[in-house]
Amino acid sequence: MAISGTTKLLGIIGDPVEHSMSPDMHNRAIAELGLDYVYVPFPVKPADLGAAMAGFAAIGVVGLNATIPHKQTVIPYLDVITPEAQAIGAVNTLWYSDRGWEGTNTDVTGFLAPLLDRAAQEPSLQHCFSRPLVLLGHGGAARAVVAGASQLGCPLVHVVGRTPEKVEAFVRSWDHSPIAVHLEGHSFNALGTLLPEAGIIVNSTPIGMQPHTDQSPLSEAITGRIASDTIAYDLIYTPSPTLFLQQAQRQGAIAIDGLEMLVRQGAAAFELWVGQAPPIPVMRQALRQRLGLV
Ligand code: NAP
Repeated sequence: MAISGTTKLLGIIGDPVEHSMSPDMHNRAIAELGLDYVYVPFPVKPADLGAAMAGFAAIGVVGLNATIPHKQTVIPYLDVITPEAQAIGAVNTLWYSDRGWEGTNTDVTGFLAPLLDRAAQEPSLQHCFSRPLVLLGHGGAARAVVAGASQLGCPLVHVVGRTPEKVEAFVRSWDHSPIAVHLEGHSFNALGTLLPEAGIIVNSTPIGMQPHTDQSPLSEAITGRIASDTIAYDLIYTPSPTLFLQQAQRQGAIAIDGLEMLVRQGAAAFELWVGQAPPIPVMRQALRQRLGLV
C-alpha cells in the first residue's frame, strides 16, 4: 500500500491499543479494494481524549473505531450519535462529516450477522428467536446483545449475573429506552430453570477466554438442561470452541463463536467510512491469520 499526500486516515483509539487486530482486518480490506486509505492504531490516554478528537478533526482523519476505555467517554465529543448507539450508551465507530464527529455502534450488526446468516440457511432456526434469550453477563457487549435481541423479536431476555445490584441496574437501565425489550434479572442459580426454555444462550462474560480455556460460565451439572434446538453463542473468539460451546454442542445445540461478530462489526464500520461493500472473506481471513487459526 503506497501512502501519499492524498491518503485518507482511518484508525482506532484505545488505551492500550497496541494489540488490536482491527488494523490487520481493515488494512487488508483497503489493499483488496485498492483504496487510498490507511488504518492506524492511535494510543489515546483518557485525559487526552478531548484534545485527540479535536486533533483528529484538524488533520482530516475521516473515520475511527473506539475501544476500551473510550466507547462511552467519547460520546460527549460527538456532534451526532445514532439513536441505537444512544440507547446502548456506547459507540464503536465514528466518522467525520460536515456535521462534525458522528458516532454509531456496529456491534449490534456484528452480533446479529451470524444469527441471521444461519437462519437464512436453516429457516427452522427462526423458532429460536421467538423463545427467551439467556444473557450471561451484563457489561458493554451485553448492551449490544440486548439491542440485537430486540431486533430479532425475542420476547424476553433473561439477564444472568453474579452481582444482584449490577444485574438490577442493567435491567432498569432499559426502562425508558427506545429499544423495545422485556428483561428479567437472575443469579446463576436460576440457570437450571432458564436453560431448557432458551432459544439462544449468549456468553458475554470473559469466562473461558484464553488462557482460561478450562473454564465455563455453566457448571457441568446443568449443561444437560440445554435443549438440542438451542443456539449457544459465545462472544469470545479465542479459543474456538470455548468450553461453553463444547458443552452446548454435546447437547446437540448449534454453536457460534465470537469471530464472526468481530468481522461483521468491522465490515459495517468499513462500509460507513469508504462507502463500498466490504470484502468480508478477506477481513475474516486476516483475523484468522492473526489469531493463528490458519
Ligand atoms: P465487560 O464490560 O467487562 O463485562 C463483563 C461481564 O462479565 C460483566 O457483567 C461481569 O460481571 C461479567 N463477569 C466477568 N467475570 C465474571 C465471572 N468470573 N463470573 C461471572 N460474571 C463475570 O466486558 P465486555 O466488553 O462486555 O466483553 C465481554 C466479553 O465479550 C469479552 O470476552 C470480550 O472479549 C467479548 N467481546 C467480543 C466481541 C466480539 O466482537 N466478538 C465484542 C465485544 C466483546 P461483574 O460486573 O459482576 O464482574
